[in-house]
This record gives sequence, structure tokens and C-alpha cells, in this order.
Amino acid sequence: MTPTPSQPVVEPAGFGALALSPAMQANLVQLGYTEMTPIQAAALPPALLGKDLIAQAKTGSGKTAAFALALLANLNPRRFAVQALVLCPTRELADQVTTEIRRLARAEENIKVVTLCGGVPLRNQMASLENGAHIAVGTPGRIMDHLERGTLDIEALNTLVLDEADRMLDMGFFDDIATVARQCPKQRQTLLFSATYPEGIAKLSVQFMREPITIRVEAQHGSAQIQQRWYEVKNSERLHAVSLLLNHFRPASTLAFCNTKAQCRDLVAVLQAQGFSALALYGELDQRERDQVLVQFANRSCSVLVATDVAARGLDIAQLAAVINVDTTPDPEVHIHRIGRTGRAGEEGLALCLASLDEMGSVGKIELLQGRESQWHTLAELTPTGSGPLRPPMATLQIVGGRKEKIRAGDVLGALTGEAGFAKEQVGKINVNEFSTYVAVDRAIAQQAVQRLNAGRIKGKSVKVRLLED
Ligand code: ADP
Ligand code: MG
Repeated sequence: MTPTPSQPVVEPAGFGALALSPAMQANLVQLGYTEMTPIQAAALPPALLGKDLIAQAKTGSGKTAAFALALLANLNPRRFAVQALVLCPTRELADQVTTEIRRLARAEENIKVVTLCGGVPLRNQMASLENGAHIAVGTPGRIMDHLERGTLDIEALNTLVLDEADRMLDMGFFDDIATVARQCPKQRQTLLFSATYPEGIAKLSVQFMREPITIRVEAQHGSAQIQQRWYEVKNSERLHAVSLLLNHFRPASTLAFCNTKAQCRDLVAVLQAQGFSALALYGELDQRERDQVLVQFANRSCSVLVATDVAARGLDIAQLAAVINVDTTPDPEVHIHRIGRTGRAGEEGLALCLASLDEMGSVGKIELLQGRESQWHTLAELTPTGSGPLRPPMATLQIVGGRKEKIRAGDVLGALTGEAGFAKEQVGKINVNEFSTYVAVDRAIAQQAVQRLNAGRIKGKSVKVRLLED
């Protein structure tokens, strides 16, 4: 069964016309949300009327605010009970959603949001729930766990959100979602968000939604925004072609898509052997390894992130200079999602695509969907530019100790710029995780920074610091 797409709204529109409180309107202005994104413009009016929605739009299109504003409108802050539940596929995404909901909720009085994911002791989460949470965001497994133990009460629930529903289905969460949905009050609003529309979604909607409205915002990007260049390669030269592209275009950050995990591993090995700073992201990494890879890519100490489509889904990475399609995907919709990672927010993006003769059928399907022919170039055009190998500007130091040790970003910045004697400009992004802290520093001072931090103190305590390999 396929949905009947409603007419996508393309005209930019402000939030002003929506039935939102003046405090919320002011908060949106403060956040710099002046216009609704197309999915917000299409989803918010029916969502604020209490309708169930199936909304489909590409990653980075502002889906979180689309459901967050609806669930906040349904909420009574003076009622101390969980009134909204958001199911997400991974802890990372749950954290991102929690952050965005908190930003949007700060307009209202004291709204409490709790994140419920695995890998964290249940005890802490139970304490947060006992203190009275209005909104719970989490992964299906852990939410079920709390429901079974009776530590999460959803009798007062009025909004259920399934975020990244396609990915949750990919990960085999259908039964868990069904179990949770069955325990929610019948009188509620259900909002389902997804980047694609696999079969399982229709099954979910039939079972758990009431006359849902389907909204689909065109996956197509403006061609001016993304420059797509195609290169025909033999399979034997494919991996080497990636380094030719990197040395020619020298993008500051690149997401390279492969169709398989094995290809990801091979490409990273080839790139690292040639002196590039490249890391792989694929399903088998544990949460800590995944966090480290993402931190290093986001803080500009890794030039190339090599990923499968499943592993990359839902990542919100700003300022991606280029996307490389190492393998052509057989699914043209996936191609649109891949290249949509670059050229966001009005900046021009670069999509470099490799295709062998046996992939030309897939290329044809992509051309059909995009409604235009591919622009072909030859590998012979690629010549190394710039001086020396492409290196990232920063390097990442890992400090043993994080939120658990009450380390804050300011403490780390203070240690580097105070005692250790570095300039503020030499310090980049600081991520404080539960047990580890990651700080990006100018690549040139990395070794020195490790030595000086190891010799000094943070929050009056000596710390263990090491340079993360890339
Ligand atoms: P998705 O869930 O569709 O992948 P997100 O909800 O993560 O997308 O939003 C992507 C980014 O866009 C976030 O950084 C968010 O803060 C920002 N954003 C969302 N809505 C707006 C808006 N109306 N104006 C400006 N920025 C927005
Ligand atoms: Mg999202």
C-alpha cells in the first residue's frame, strides 16, 4: 500500500499564522526559526488540530520541531504526569530530540523532559521519572522495560510520536513499538515521522493510528544547490578513485557512502594507508566507539566519514562540504537522501558519484527520479591540488572523566588556556560525555596539549589524557 501524497507546501511561511502561544512565538524568533521548513508548514496545521499524521521528509528537514510543537501544544505543564512519549531508534537520536524539545519548551514554565535509553542505569532514570516528567523520549526497548516495571506511567499520555519510524523498523523494533502503542490510552494523537516509506509503516498505521493524514514533502533538491558529478570507474579502481577525488576537490569534510560494511572497511583502510584521516561508521560499532567517531568528525579532526546508509541515517551533521557515493545505490530514493546531506541551508554542496558499467541500470533509475541526465567526468581530469596531503585542521584529545566526574566544558577550556598556556583560538569543540570528555585542538599543538594536560589538573584533580588516533 502506498500513501496518497497530499500537496506539498512550497511557499515559505512564518510560524505567526499558527495557533501557538505568544511566548512560544517569541522563543522561535529567538532560536532563529523565522520560516517554517516545508515539512513543518505541511504538518503543523493538521497536527495542531489534533490529527494523526504520517509525515515523510528527508533528514535535516526539521521534523523534530514539527512534532515537538504539536506535543507541547497538547501538554498541561501543571499536570505532573508523562503526557507525551517519543520513540526513537537510537540513544543518539533520542538525545538530539531531547535537546531540541528542551530548546522549544523553554518558552513555557518548567517542562521536564526525560531521556530513557539503554546503556544507562535504570536507577537514575527511575529517579527522574519519580520527580515528575512531562515528556519521555527514548528507545523502544528501554521504554518497554520501564512500562513492565511500572516505573513509567502513561495513563495521562495524549501524544505518541514515532520518530524515524523506518529506521526503527529496519532495526527490528516492530513488536516493541506495537507493545508500547497498545499500552497507550486510546484517546491520543499519534504522529509518525519517517524519511522513507517501507511497508511496515502502513502496517503500523493501520493498527495504531486513527484516520491519519499522509504528508510527503518532495525529496528532490534544487539542482543549483548541489553540484552532482559522475565518474565512470572500473570496480578495481573504485577505492583509489575516492582518494583522487579527495586530493582534487579537498573538501573539509566528506561523508562517503558504501553499500556494504565490507566496502566501508576496505575504503577506510585504503584512505588511512594514503595518509587521510578517515573513520568508518557501521552497525557493529558499540555506542562508545560510535560516539567517538561522530565526535571526531563533527569537531573537524577527521576529514572523511565512511558509512553505510543505515548507519548514517538520522545524523545531523552541519557543514558537510561533500558527499561521495562510492557505490551507486540501487534505490534512487536513497541516492536523493545521500546527496541531500551536502548543500544544506543555502550553501552549495558537492556530490561526487562513482559508477561502474554494471551499475548503469541504477544510474538510469536515479536519472528518471531526478528528471535530468547525469553529468559525466573522467578520472583523468582529477589532479592533486593544494600543498601536501589533505589533513583535518583539528585533532581530538580524550580525557578520562566526564559528566560523572562533574567535568564541564569550561573546566577543560580553562585548563588549556590557563595553566597549559594555549590560546582560546587553538581550542575547538568540547564534548562532555558521561565517562569521557573530548576536546578538539589545533592539530599543530595536539602532542603538547596532551603532555601539558597530563601534567596539570582539571577541577583540582590530575587527569589521564590521550590523543585519539585517526
Ligand atoms: P530531521 O529530524 O528532519 O532530520 P531536525 O529536526 O533534526 O531534522 O532539524 C535539522 C536542523 O534544522 C536542526 O538543527 C534544527 O534546529 C533546525 N531547524 C528546524 N526547524 C527550523 C526552522 N524552522 N528554521 C531554522 N532552523 C530549523
Ligand atoms: Mg529527526
